[in-house]
Amino acid sequence: MSGSNSERMTSPKTANFKTASTNKKEEPVAIISDDDNNKFEKLKNEDTTSEHIPFDTSFESTIRPKHFDDYVGQSSLKSTLKISIEAAKKRELPLDHILFYGPPGLGKTTLASVIATEMNANIKITSAPSFERPRDIIGILMALKAGDILFIDEIHRLNKISEEILYPAMEDFYLDMTTGKAQTLKSIRIPIPKFTLIGATTKAGSLSGPLRDRFGIIHRLEFYTEDELAKVIKRTAQILEIEIDENGAYAIAKRSRGTPRIANRLVKRVRDYAIVKSNGFINEKLANQSLDILQIDKYGLDNTDRSLINLIANKYNGGPVGIETIATALGEDSKTIEDVYEPYLLQKGFIQRTPRGRKLTPFACKCFNLGSLNIQQELNFDF
Ligand code: ADP
Repeated sequence: MSGSNSERMTSPKTANFKTASTNKKEEPVAIISDDDNNKFEKLKNEDTTSEHIPFDTSFESTIRPKHFDDYVGQSSLKSTLKISIEAAKKRELPLDHILFYGPPGLGKTTLASVIATEMNANIKITSAPSFERPRDIIGILMALKAGDILFIDEIHRLNKISEEILYPAMEDFYLDMTTGKAQTLKSIRIPIPKFTLIGATTKAGSLSGPLRDRFGIIHRLEFYTEDELAKVIKRTAQILEIEIDENGAYAIAKRSRGTPRIANRLVKRVRDYAIVKSNGFINEKLANQSLDILQIDKYGLDNTDRSLINLIANKYNGGPVGIETIATALGEDSKTIEDVYEPYLLQKGFIQRTPRGRKLTPFACKCFNLGSLNIQQELNFDF
């Protein structure tokens, strides 16, 4: 950034945005008042990361893989990324911007950290809902150093202004702003260091077209197989010094909904049970007893999943029924149903989406002994 620009930059608190008529793409630009001069510099140096990582607990950071070798599964995605990383290193340029999408807990944040380690880059982990005011995202962007990685979780929830500030930052590495008031209004372009944005979303379809188009690499994360989850479980057990045998790991893997975050959570719950009920060692029998008590069935379904299936079967004769109706009946937010519960039920083939709503599949009827959906009946959930 040029000295004159930085001197003129003033309080981010007073920054507001409007679309500059000189701007060809009609992108909004920050209007920063001339009133107080050096707060912008302060903002630039602020460590804004900590307030944006409320979810990164010490447990998570202890078990979060740091290298590709520890990152289980997602093999084709890993191969593609390794090539991109090697190419970027050879060209001595930052990686293209990357978008990861897929249900929660599949390892999007973890993969961003792995990429940072492999690139020898710093990473700033943030989440879109924390960018309330323009100054929030401007502060983060201006504090970046060349080669840094900026991770934005839930990027589909970015507000319009923050999103439009990102466009030139992603494309040409500058911020488009105006400074001054009324007649003295002046457009300025502030260069920022070349960085890589890694966005993560559970809802790729909710991303605006222009934002999606600015990502060079877009990847979906897949649910994990039982073998992969057993590996995740054994690795976590080793780090946390939990004793578990192969069959115990598989018993937990089977009921982890294809999701490493759930697998890790269950390992801890089963460990507690093993400590209380036995000598702390987890084998298949103990894992199964503990998971039965937690009411997680042999398909990995929990009470909410079962209530959802029960509802469609018994109240709506197998469906179709709209997502809002399901959410209201279950007392859940429809977004939670869509983002957290539904993807696994869809992937396992228990429900299907139709234009008129969600329906149970013949597979669900078979698994839960639903002979005829026209008759109300108690579902037979087998743990
Ligand atoms: P997301 O960002 O997709 O919601 P996270 O990256 O936060 O998911 O992953 C949740 C937890 O699962 C992390 O604590 C991490 O330890 C674990 N995890 C995720 N993916 C993997 C993986 N591929 N290998 C090992 N552990 C993983």
